[in-house]
Amino acid sequence: MGLHTHGKKRIRKNDKMKIKGMIEASFLDWDGKIVTTVFVPGCNFRCPYCQNWELIEHPEKFEEVDFERMKKFLLSHKDFIDGLCITGGEPTIYEDLPDFIKKIKKLDFTVKLDTNGSKPGMIKKLIDEKLVDYIAMDMKAPFEKYDTACGVKVDMESIKRSIDIIMNSKIGYEFRTTVVPGITDESDVENIAKTMKRAKRYVLQQFIPKNAMDEKLRNITPYRKDIFEKMVEKAKKYVKNTVMRGV
Ligand code: SF4
Repeated sequence: MGLHTHGKKRIRKNDKMKIKGMIEASFLDWDGKIVTTVFVPGCNFRCPYCQNWELIEHPEKFEEVDFERMKKFLLSHKDFIDGLCITGGEPTIYEDLPDFIKKIKKLDFTVKLDTNGSKPGMIKKLIDEKLVDYIAMDMKAPFEKYDTACGVKVDMESIKRSIDIIMNSKIGYEFRTTVVPGITDESDVENIAKTMKRAKRYVLQQFIPKNAMDEKLRNITPYRKDIFEKMVEKAKKYVKNTVMRGV
């Protein structure tokens, strides 16, 4: 049985997925759409810049969001909410993620999944069963620097398989990198972009120091806009549709 966190309340492979947070209406999580965003606890990575680390290390601190409450909200705002964004934490560590999404699909909502790409089998299942309409997969670093950027030893074959599965699918998707001074630089961004040539979309995200998991990162200054612009230009050589977010 695999353990997925080192936190006080460990999440085990067969644990049921829970919702531990909900933003009723988000304009930021799915470009061009208004979505309800739900957060799941637990993650198999420990990225030092993670903003939601308390959800990973201390899921017991967060009150569970009841499915019926979420359903009631969605149904009563159907004219306003375009879909549901499932984020975390890492949703794909839960075996019952497909069952959860099936219940959402029955309500006739589109679904966006945020993932770190470590579970290609789950990603493939969700795509094959038409359970996801859009996937945002993190590309944490160039392959050779992945472990440092994720704070754990990462199985790179799984990451590569996920990239392949997503790029060969017919659904909407984006790859995205949170660009953190000291972890990712200009040449890293270029190298990442090279590994997913001709992807539909690549997003370079601004790092927010305030609530980073690693305290040492909380005082660093994020990259300036002009540096981001240079990075976008470099990435565009490989992925035309490269954009920045939060800068
Ligand atoms: S940033 Fe994402 S992948 Fe990394 S630890 Fe946080 S939730 Fe997990």
